[in-house]
Amino acid sequence: MRVVIKVGTSTLTHQNGNINIRRIENLCKVMSDLKNSGLEIILVSSGAIAMGIGKLGLTKKPQDIPSKQAAAAIGQCELMYTYDKLFQEHNHTVAQVLMTGADFDNAERYENFKNTLDRLLEFNVLPIVNENDTIATSEIKVGDNDTLSAMTAVGAHADLLILLSDIDGLYTADPHKQSDATLIPSVDKIDEHIMELAGTAGTKLGTGGMVTKLNAAQICIDAGMDMIIANGSNPTVLYDIFDGKSVGTRFIGKDN
Ligand code: GLU
Repeated sequence: MRVVIKVGTSTLTHQNGNINIRRIENLCKVMSDLKNSGLEIILVSSGAIAMGIGKLGLTKKPQDIPSKQAAAAIGQCELMYTYDKLFQEHNHTVAQVLMTGADFDNAERYENFKNTLDRLLEFNVLPIVNENDTIATSEIKVGDNDTLSAMTAVGAHADLLILLSDIDGLYTADPHKQSDATLIPSVDKIDEHIMELAGTAGTKLGTGGMVTKLNAAQICIDAGMDMIIANGSNPTVLYDIFDGKSVGTRFIGKDN
C-alpha cells in the first residue's frame, strides 16, 4: 500500500514557529514503524516558513515575498536536517523533493517527478515533498500544501492521502464557536453544503484551512482515491487508521 501523509505547520511547530520536538519525534517514530511494516510512505511536509521565522527570531510571519522566501530557504534546511536526524535513528533514509505548480504543468518535469518518486520508493527511501517556496511566484505556485499533497498523491498513484492537521476533521459547524458541532465521519460528495461548512479558518503560521483541504479532497475523489483529515496532535492516530478504525473525516473516492 502506498500512502501520502501531509503534515501541516501547526502540527510541527509551536505557535512561535519553533519546532515542536515531542510532536515531530513521535511522528517520525510512528512513520518509521509503519514503513517497517511494509507501507510505502511519501511525506508532504509544511513548516519551512514557520521554522525560518523561528530561527530568525521574528515575532510574526513577514508579509513581503522576499522575506517569506528567505524564511523558507532557512527553514527548509532545518526541516530536512530534523527529519534526516530523526528518521536516521530508525534506519530510514529521507530525500528532499521540492516542486512548484509549473513543474506539475510541464509534462516532462512532471514525468521526472513521478519517476523519481517511484525510484526513491524502490530504494526504500522516504521522499519528503514541499513546495519550492524560495523561487515560487504567485503565477507558478501551487500555493498550499493540502493541494500539493493531493497532486503528489495522484502523481504517485497512492492508495490514500492523509492530511494531519490541528483539527479532528470536518464538523457540522465551527467547533470553536458551537459546542453542539459534531464530526462528520465520511463524505462521498463535496457539494455546496459541504463547502459552506469549511469556513475560512487557518492558523497563524500555516497557509491552508478547511477550504484547501476540501479542494484536496476533490482532487482525490476525482482520481478515485480516499482522503482522510485527522488530528496530528497525537501521531499514533496513524496506527488507528491502518488498523481500520474510523478516524477523523474520510472522503470516499474509491469505487467512484
Ligand atoms: N510550503 C509552506 C512551508 O513549508 C507551507 C504551505 C502550507 O502551509 O500549506 O512553509
